Amino acid sequence: MTLTGEEVLRYSRQILLPEVGGRGQERLRQARVLVVGAGGLGSPAALYLAAAGVGSVGLCDADRVDLTNLQRQILHGTPDVGRPKVDSGAEALVRLNPGVQVLRHPFRLTAANALGVIQGYDVVVDGTDTFPSKFLVNDACAAAGVPYVYAGILRFEGQMLTVVPGRGACYRCFFREPPPPGAVPTCAQAGILGAVAGVMGSLQALEVLKLLLGVGEPMVNRLLLFEGETLTFRELRVHRDPRCPACGDPPHRRPLSDEPGAVCAANPSDRC
Ligand SMILES: [Zn+2]
Repeated sequence: MTLTGEEVLRYSRQILLPEVGGRGQERLRQARVLVVGAGGLGSPAALYLAAAGVGSVGLCDADRVDLTNLQRQILHGTPDVGRPKVDSGAEALVRLNPGVQVLRHPFRLTAANALGVIQGYDVVVDGTDTFPSKFLVNDACAAAGVPYVYAGILRFEGQMLTVVPGRGACYRCFFREPPPPGAVPTCAQAGILGAVAGVMGSLQALEVLKLLLGVGEPMVNRLLLFEGETLTFRELRVHRDPRCPACGDPPHRRPLSDEPGAVCAANPSDRC
């Protein structure tokens, strides 16, 4: 279906880009993107995806909005405290762009439900805040063959990697197992500056749009390291491990499972 007059106006500044154009805009409208975690990373990512006209945005989060979230989770406002994040998030996205369909998944992703949720989406954004969740998103996307964009944040620092099954390394290829609970501090223990979450979540949205439009060079096999205090970006080359339990060659792949340490040590309301 061709774009309506209102859509042409709304998206005019990006339709102007030869890499987007009317055809690209139609492709975005057809696209389905799942954002796992409607928190510090998921907020800017989901907002920019909705603003850009991604037709269907899924939000997966079991939590309710807490006052301590609002310093960085810009999808939610003060009147939303106590509400399910998928509800306040969905309202915020539709307020920004009524043309976007928001699918609500008001539960935690587990090994039992992950494949069912992820299948049917074109790209996934990892906006989770615990290592077991990050490994689960990675493993489920690998099993489903769905590309996803990983990011992690702490204090003034962030990391990001785009994982395209069959085209490069996954998160488990080089971070083989989650660290023992308590070995790495959480945002609740070590702190996080909201703008750092904004930088990394926005970069995730950019990577998703590039994947959907088929333009540019995604951060495949390149782990991006952001250091906010000195404002430096670096990248590390990473390689797919053929013996990786998530994306490796048979017989190294293992079935999807919850990590042994899957019970998060942090208070759920302290999510990044
Ligand atoms: Zn792998």
